[in-house]
Amino acid sequence: MTLHSALPLIALFLNAALVGVSILRNPASRLNRVFAYFATALALWNFGVFMLRRAPDEASAYLWEVVIHVGVIAIPVFYYHFVLIFLDSTTRRRPALALAYGLAIIFSAINASGSALFMTGVKSTHWGWAPATGPLYTPFFLYFNAFMIYGLCHLAKAYRTIDSSFRRNRVMLVLLATFISLIGGFVDFARFILTRFLPAADQAYPLGIPGNMILVFMIGLSIVRYRMFDVDVALKKAAIYCGVAAVVTSLLVGLTWTLEQQFRLEETSALWIVIPLGLIMTLFLSPFGHGLESQVERLIFSKRRGCYDTLLNLSNRMSAILDSGKLVDTLVRGLARGIPLTHCVVMLYDRAANLFVPYREESTTGEESGIAPIRADSSIAQWLAQADGVLVKEEVKINRQMAVYFEAVEGELEQIPASLLVPLKIENKLTGILLLGEKLSGEVFDDQELEVLSVVANQAAISLENARLYEQLGSSNARLLQASQLKSQFLASMSHELRTPLNSIIGFSKVLLNRIDGDLTDRQDSYVRSVHSSSMHLLELINSVLDISRIEAGKQELDLQEIDLHDLMDECIESSAPLARGKPLKIEKDAPLELPRLRGDRTKVKQVLLNLLSNAVKFTATGRVMVRVRPEPDAVHVSVADTGIGIREADLPRLFEPFQRLDSPLARDAGGTGLGLAISKKFVELHRGRIWAESRENHGSTFHFVLPLTPAS
Ligand code: ADP
Repeated sequence: MTLHSALPLIALFLNAALVGVSILRNPASRLNRVFAYFATALALWNFGVFMLRRAPDEASAYLWEVVIHVGVIAIPVFYYHFVLIFLDSTTRRRPALALAYGLAIIFSAINASGSALFMTGVKSTHWGWAPATGPLYTPFFLYFNAFMIYGLCHLAKAYRTIDSSFRRNRVMLVLLATFISLIGGFVDFARFILTRFLPAADQAYPLGIPGNMILVFMIGLSIVRYRMFDVDVALKKAAIYCGVAAVVTSLLVGLTWTLEQQFRLEETSALWIVIPLGLIMTLFLSPFGHGLESQVERLIFSKRRGCYDTLLNLSNRMSAILDSGKLVDTLVRGLARGIPLTHCVVMLYDRAANLFVPYREESTTGEESGIAPIRADSSIAQWLAQADGVLVKEEVKINRQMAVYFEAVEGELEQIPASLLVPLKIENKLTGILLLGEKLSGEVFDDQELEVLSVVANQAAISLENARLYEQLGSSNARLLQASQLKSQFLASMSHELRTPLNSIIGFSKVLLNRIDGDLTDRQDSYVRSVHSSSMHLLELINSVLDISRIEAGKQELDLQEIDLHDLMDECIESSAPLARGKPLKIEKDAPLELPRLRGDRTKVKQVLLNLLSNAVKFTATGRVMVRVRPEPDAVHVSVADTGIGIREADLPRLFEPFQRLDSPLARDAGGTGLGLAISKKFVELHRGRIWAESRENHGSTFHFVLPLTPAS
């Protein structure tokens, strides 16, 4: 078999592969179907030529010529139809398309009838059998070239107006492919016609088949590179395995040959060498097989890896950001500059307007995309809300389901300046849309990249939601803080207002009790005593509330002075002594003679110590209360230990919270406001000190506080 006769067979296989790819990929797509018809017509042509070149006699050669022409007549019409769908202009060009189909039917009928008007027979030429053309062959030739050229012109015109770079590349490939194959077809048919007048034309090589092969090859390329039918990944893998297989096989053959030469094994069966060698190589390769595959992939598709790495890196960076503005910035910038893309936009849902509005945009071309808000009830938003992954704009035409969905709102999607629309969803609700322009490399996103992209988008949606919640928390915290300050202010002024009348109640009841204005009956005396002690309690409570609210409103300031701790302890012990009267209770003091100089607010420190001491005395029936002071580097440590009722471990954490009075019989009898420890804590903290308690129930308590020698301002 010569190359001349094998060529149509090779072209036939290529055609068959194209038919397979386009039909398998998406049989429902009109574009794929028409393309498959076109490739089938090409295949029929090639098959016919292959058989023709082997035809033994004139009769069978004529039969194969008819078969060839069945294919050839269909080529321009399917090609033209394919171009129209591809460019989305079937409706506008309907009359031309109808004309093409009409002519194709007429020529097919004439060809099938075996009429001499089309072919008078076959003749033997320099390159094999060729048709002897009849008078209708020239119109057929014109029809063929007219529609091929017409399609070509549409493509060329569209090429200039298409703004998507990868679509343009795709169109360019189809355009060149058609052009080259057209030259082939032209040469072929011209040969048949011209030989009538110019016998030398017969010598020209029939370029139809090589032209056809180039057409198939380039359309194949446009499919692979520009995702016309998305067979990228499968072909890549196939290429890798073919490459690896080729290397392994040639190694094997080389080794076998060397071994044969070396050991003169020509007489023995080759199997004895090949099988053990194959086993050894498999053993040798299998541990490396996986690594080898990834190495090859890295080598051939390094650019793709760059895109994954960008996406993965971005997802890592985003998870650490809690500010929504920064997060969106990182996302759009990372995508636009990292991949890189022409531009990238994040649109977020605006509840009030029921719109998705552009929130951040990053462009690498210096041009604004000029995107308008998208209505939340628009078909695009609705599609994204229910879609699982990325919406590839180019695929809308190819995918039947999408094509039907978007048909009604054509234009709406077209107007969006993006090649990918990625939904940002939280709990299945669309919260935003990520728009990606095209890769600056002009490549398209492959399936794996789209998958990683939708994972990144999911993560971005979650991070954005987290950031939003975090910000919301921050602002409600601020509001709460404000509310709490208002409450404290209110309490401060209320307490102040209450104190004035209370002071006159206390004052005048004291006057009555002192009998300055005359005697009282015993009953009157006991009533007035009760009024007086209750008012005193109330005053104490009001003072405490005032203290605490002043602190909370941030109005307490320290009046710093030097404090003599010995003096302070003595005063406090003296004041608490009356409380211990009648109890077998000793109050003791333990402090080194030399104590460091402490700077602080004397009144407040005294109030703290007094409160701890009076609590200790209150909650201890017998035993002793020990006040201890120990100097520490840059601080003093004061503790008040008692042998009283102690505190349950569970109660310790809330001891210093306002209005906490623990439930114990003695505590209930002891009276008090539940504010003493809370105030003490605030006062100690105002000095930048620390206060805490240690206790075991029924085993006494020890309260500690540590004050720095000079509280930092
Ligand atoms: P109160 O004015 O009621 O004494 P405090 O804030 O000073 O308010 O004390 C809160 C509660 O802590 C008391 O009601 C008591 O139950 C418990 N408490 C405080 N000091 C002691 C102590 N030394 N021993 C046992 N319980 C104590």
